[in-house]
Amino acid sequence: MTCQRCYGDVYECSDCDGQTRKSLLGDTLPCSTCRSTGYVCPQDGGYWQ
Ligand SMILES: [Zn+2]
Ligand SMILES: [Zn+2]
Repeated sequence: MTCQRCYGDVYECSDCDGQTRKSLLGDTLPCSTCRSTGYVCPQDGGYWQ
């Protein structure tokens, strides 16, 4: 997985564990860190795509 802005490697978001964390209702939690993409770019943050 690479960033579509700087073409560097993106890493799995540690705040939501790559969007694998679920709410009590089983829904995927919205994440402001990765903008709910599950991945974060070290340079662009959640704005990598
Ligand atoms: Zn980037
Ligand atoms: Zn996240």
